[in-house]
Amino acid sequence: MSFPKTFDRLKVVVMALAPRARRAALEQVIAWAEWERDLAEDEAELDRELDRELAPASGRQVVAGSEWRHGKMSMRQEEVKCGKPSCRTCPHGPYWYGYLREGGKMKSVYLGKNLSPELQAVYAERQQREPHEDAPG
Ligand SMILES: [Zn+2]
Repeated sequence: MSFPKTFDRLKVVVMALAPRARRAALEQVIAWAEWERDLAEDEAELDRELDRELAPASGRQVVAGSEWRHGKMSMRQEEVKCGKPSCRTCPHGPYWYGYLREGGKMKSVYLGKNLSPELQAVYAERQQREPHEDAPG
């Protein structure tokens, strides 16, 4: 959210106005600030909702740091426990899963052991533009 910076710039503009115009402008700014704050709260609530909906299914573990988003789809790698008592290779994967909202419902899509070449290209480009926070440099 770049709101405080925007607000500072607006304050400079408003204070330069004649007193009468300033009052009207201030009322406008306050209305806008409230709207902006409501929007931020809505967004935060949506994020929390998304986190709840994206809780991993039982037997699945999200690979830390694998989450990323492209367009409407959130993607991440998950390791899967098959639940067979005789299994010696659990957990399986990691596999890529995509999540997207469709008609108000969260839909999960299996993307495979590897991302498609198209998604891999987007992912690689993204990594170059926005290097991971704990990457050197
Ligand atoms: Zn297994």
